[in-house]
Amino acid sequence: MTDTLTPVLSADWGNDRAWTLEGYESSGGYKALREALAMKPDDVTTLVKDSGLRGRGGAGFPTGMKWSFIPQGDDQPGGAKPHYLVVNADESEPGTCKDIPLMMATPHTLIEGVIIASYAIRAEQAFIYVRGEVLHVVRRLRAAVREAYEAGYLGKDIQGSGFNCDLVIHAGAGAYICGEETALLDSLEGRRGQPRLRPPFPAVEGLYACPTVINNVESIASVPSIVSGGADWFSSMGTEKSKGMTLYSLSGHVKAPGQYEAPLGITLRQVLELGGGLREGAELKFWTPGGSSTPILTTEHLDIPLDYEGVGAAGSMLGTKALQIFDQTTSVVRAVLRWTEFYKHESCGKCTPCREGTWWLVQTLERLNRGEGKEGDIELLLDLCDNILGRAFCALGDGATSPITSAITYFRSEFEAGMHTPSWELFPPAASTLFESAELDNATVGGSE
Ligand code: SF4
Repeated sequence: MTDTLTPVLSADWGNDRAWTLEGYESSGGYKALREALAMKPDDVTTLVKDSGLRGRGGAGFPTGMKWSFIPQGDDQPGGAKPHYLVVNADESEPGTCKDIPLMMATPHTLIEGVIIASYAIRAEQAFIYVRGEVLHVVRRLRAAVREAYEAGYLGKDIQGSGFNCDLVIHAGAGAYICGEETALLDSLEGRRGQPRLRPPFPAVEGLYACPTVINNVESIASVPSIVSGGADWFSSMGTEKSKGMTLYSLSGHVKAPGQYEAPLGITLRQVLELGGGLREGAELKFWTPGGSSTPILTTEHLDIPLDYEGVGAAGSMLGTKALQIFDQTTSVVRAVLRWTEFYKHESCGKCTPCREGTWWLVQTLERLNRGEGKEGDIELLLDLCDNILGRAFCALGDGATSPITSAITYFRSEFEAGMHTPSWELFPPAASTLFESAELDNATVGGSE
């Protein structure tokens, strides 16, 4: 792993005009687009493939390979169908807060990436699907799209290249499940957002049954720097199989929560150093490497490499790189209950294991949280998880079980204590360093270390 910590995506976040076209162009914005338009579309795809960029939305699938699955030649006159690019900006995993700051700070980075990616896959229509609740982001993106049209970066014959591309900012109604790519497509088509059966896969039959690439915000925003810097530059950062820099969201009992850009493969210990460490009096108890749907880890995992392979080997998943830090004042049972309530609420209801299972999980965890757990409740939780994992229709159901099974593995005694003692007696909220620390007010949420 390289030791270099040179910000790329967040390099301009300290510039309060970086969100305007003028500010973006003054630091080299849209040069990569001109370079890409001088290349053949397939060469752009090859460049992204060679860089080793993997999807930053959680699954880590190679981005260039995803682009290459789009059938080629069918968009020519006489060909069958148009192609679409859809950017998944429905960020809502608990703990994940990287795409929204990126879109607020430098929306043109994403728009430039959208145009380059559309050119590579021969799509003339692109969409950014963003949560409607984050109205400030929707407004900022729409303002940036207007600027891009006026400057000739979007629309017909972009920069005299003969390439046409339109971009629509679509505000979703606010459902976690719409971050699942096929549910997102259903929602974009005007239907209730629920996952689709696969195959057919979106690359073949996606939006309006046409070939569609769906990528995360950070993946697409990384593309301009790859075009400018080259595949070798990008792949010189990170680890052997997890290349490049990325954004980690740090939150919880730390001195300076926020977004930290670093190469893949950095350790939690190093990220904590970047964030000034834990709060005064706090000791690390457990943490999530990639949001609440990834199995929790503990102090014994402080030095594992935060890349897809390292976190996987430790029994969890890198996911969205949402590092939620919890100290010794946190009740594991209460934390897991809160997450499970979220999954129960966000379950789309399409399949029984998740719709019914998350409800029963919450009932059981509530009992344990109140100190009124029954004999066999821990086994019941594990049995419920076993009947959801691998049997649910989409990853939401599987993800709902991760914090529970991992928490029982590492902190079984706290669940046993739930048979007789409420969590608030074992872990009084007043003792939490989160509320005691005066530094909370000065936390650099949205910072760009
Ligand atoms: Fe819907 Fe949950 Fe089934 Fe996914 S697992 S389809 S969210 S009910």
